[in-house]
Amino acid sequence: ERQKEDLSIVIAGHVDHGKSTIIGRLLADTDSLPEGKLQQVKETCRRNSKPFEYAFLLDALKDEQSQGITIDSARCFFETDKRRYIIIDAPGHIEFLKNMVTGAARAEASLLVIDADEGVRENSRRHGYMLSMLGIKQVAVLINKMDLVGYNQQIFQEIVEEYTEFLHQINIKPISFIPVSGMRGDNIANLSKRTKWYQGETILEVLDSFNGEKLPGDKPFRMPIQDIYKFTKGGDDRRIIAGTIESGQIKIGDEIVFYPSGKRGKVKSIEAFNEDPKESVSVGYATGFTLEEQIYITRGEVATLAGQSRPQATSRIKVNLFWLGKNSMKKQKDYYLKLGTTKVKAKIEKVVRVIDASKLSQNEDKNEIERHDVAECILKLEKAIAFDLINEIAETSRFVIIDNYEIAGGGIIQNALEDEENWV
Ligand code: GDP
Repeated sequence: ERQKEDLSIVIAGHVDHGKSTIIGRLLADTDSLPEGKLQQVKETCRRNSKPFEYAFLLDALKDEQSQGITIDSARCFFETDKRRYIIIDAPGHIEFLKNMVTGAARAEASLLVIDADEGVRENSRRHGYMLSMLGIKQVAVLINKMDLVGYNQQIFQEIVEEYTEFLHQINIKPISFIPVSGMRGDNIANLSKRTKWYQGETILEVLDSFNGEKLPGDKPFRMPIQDIYKFTKGGDDRRIIAGTIESGQIKIGDEIVFYPSGKRGKVKSIEAFNEDPKESVSVGYATGFTLEEQIYITRGEVATLAGQSRPQATSRIKVNLFWLGKNSMKKQKDYYLKLGTTKVKAKIEKVVRVIDASKLSQNEDKNEIERHDVAECILKLEKAIAFDLINEIAETSRFVIIDNYEIAGGGIIQNALEDEENWV
């Protein structure tokens, strides 16, 4: 049997609009729960004389996952005939950001949940804005709790119109809007008789219509260097340069250029973990290669292919970022910027404008960035790093900002600027 393709999806929306309930339903309706889990949770509810909720399934799974390790977002897996889904529950803004910018299962698509009874809320807008900024274009909107509004088509339509208008302003074209009830299971795995006026697809069908295949051919090669392993083979000192391929592909004999250093070398062998050596390897793989030449490079550089478009390399950048830190982001203060495998000190040189991500209003007279604000600004970095611009290769353009050892913001790079001054 051919191995199924994986697709990571982040589920977002205002608190209590029904994310966990919908995830619970998706797991139950695709028979993806561990044996006996559904009965066990129902039994616990019965013993405590409280009504069963699908959201409890997710809590029960989280409890299991968190034994021994700390997790801050649940990863659930379910399968359709087409592929295997990794669904990431992002309870808050920070988890949402982490799952989009860093981490092994980085989201490639998103489901946005809106409560039909409450309508579009601030966070429905903010989450939409973040998706747009980060370049996540595959978005489906679930209008949940349709049971609470009597499956009324007009209420559904009004929310569709209001939210479409907002999304339009931030350049998101949702793939579809689906009227659902997580609680009663409407239009999740099966089309519901209670929404006869809806002729569209179920959540599962929409997920399967998302484009998941990463095509190696259409983008330049990028591999941020994670580690360099030294070993000896036949008396020779060798180095395996390891990382995860973010875009493109390489084969034996290709000429690699590392940025920002500009060093070069020819691929001698490609090493796959626990597998036979390969002739070529492409996007999505954690891999390693050795070079003909003995060159000295370090973690944080980006491996690229000679002859393809080169990445940017500078220490001054124009960015779009959103700030989630408890303390506002201020000029003169040092932060860390983490992009790919590199981490450098960063500070604000200039706040160009601050944007309210919910109202879309702008302010050009601010000097600091408050919690939940989005800002366009110029950042000065302690040293040059390699990256791409958001409209070229999104994966190597997204970064997070660290304040006091914690992720406090994130964003994308719009422009590479020249830099004459040294870091002070
Ligand atoms: P989350 O915070 O977005 O994960 O929301 P939950 O899934 O925990 O749901 C919040 C509350 O809304 C819970 O009490 C659910 O039972 C309820 N809820 C979720 N989906 C539905 C629905 O489709 N219909 C109704 N009536 N209630 C729902």
